[in-house]
Amino acid sequence: MKPLKIGVLGGGQLGRMMALAGYPLNLAFTFFDNNPDCPANHLGSRFGDADYSDASLDAFIASADVFTYEFENIPTHWVERIAEKKPVFPGVKSLAISQNRINEKQMFKALNIPTARYEEVRSEEQLRHAVGKLGLPLVLKTVTMGYDGKGQFLLKNPEQITEAWAALGSQSPLIAEEFVQFKRELSIIAVRGQKGDTVYYPLTENAHHRGILSHSIAPAPFVDNDTQLAAERYISAVLREMEHVGALTLELFETRHGLLANETAPRVHNSGHWTIEGAHCSQFENHVRAVAGLPLGSTTTEKLSAMINIIGIHPRTEEILRTTDAHLHLYGKEEREGRKLGHITVTADNSHELESRVRRIADVMPNPMALTVSK
Ligand code: AMP
Repeated sequence: MKPLKIGVLGGGQLGRMMALAGYPLNLAFTFFDNNPDCPANHLGSRFGDADYSDASLDAFIASADVFTYEFENIPTHWVERIAEKKPVFPGVKSLAISQNRINEKQMFKALNIPTARYEEVRSEEQLRHAVGKLGLPLVLKTVTMGYDGKGQFLLKNPEQITEAWAALGSQSPLIAEEFVQFKRELSIIAVRGQKGDTVYYPLTENAHHRGILSHSIAPAPFVDNDTQLAAERYISAVLREMEHVGALTLELFETRHGLLANETAPRVHNSGHWTIEGAHCSQFENHVRAVAGLPLGSTTTEKLSAMINIIGIHPRTEEILRTTDAHLHLYGKEEREGRKLGHITVTADNSHELESRVRRIADVMPNPMALTVSK
């Protein structure tokens, strides 16, 4: 049987893990990424010349039957050009909303999904005005191209207004958000099929270190049914609004007054890597199933999982593999400060066992981890 070919815009670790999930289903993959050493390189043919010319995009379009993307900071015209000739999931609407924080916030408002208060900022004067309205501290962010805490400035006192504008003003318009005193950060991932059928993973608890995801615990401890259902209601409204097909992630702040939506990612997500070992059907498999028009798989979890990112420096493989129920995923990248090089998922039957396994991993990690787990 000839495999269905999925073309993925981007050849990073997310594309790599999509391919690893799709091969058993006889799906094949091609990638659009101009880096010959990209993590997905060995998993399918790679397209994309140095400046991502239209000709190289057209060659990529000819290489597969159906298309998806693994990164939202890509030009929308790539997706529009593909959509003229072949199906692409998620569609351009999901991309256009998710890659712009103002569009995202307006959508949340229209759907009655609570968010932090915010102001659009186009000048130092408007920033001063936003500080007056929202109070301090506040977080100033670029509207587009932000990820892993990049393009952000935490403004703590009025004297920093000029400095904050000098740092980010060239990327105006910006968005100023009230600083949320959250209890913790959560995320929910859902996958919607081509007929609107939808599956939801349990809420995941996420801890960050210097703006980058350090580790996730799933299912997030101490989440009551109402909170899980609220998260599912919010993400389901977003999925329908975007007419989304494939995986979608909603990042949330848990506060004393309930959940606030932070941002969406129209794709599989780092906070869902635990699903490879921790759920019956992983986010990657469910995403490629949706893109291929196949039935979606169960998101049931039997165990507790913790996912720990490997950032900047590789740990010793032997040390990790010696830990019971530790699953090592390396992305084939060279070491560089702040770079996601891989991840480790540990699973366990109870929280005590999980915590001791996480501590064992933390002890052999070469760099410090923000080891905060809700108790
Ligand atoms: P983002 O790129 O919006 O996901 O922001 C990166 C990280 O910065 C988040 O995961 C939070 O830890 C923090 N952050 C972002 N926005 C806010 C906010 N309005 N209040 C408090 N912390 C924030």
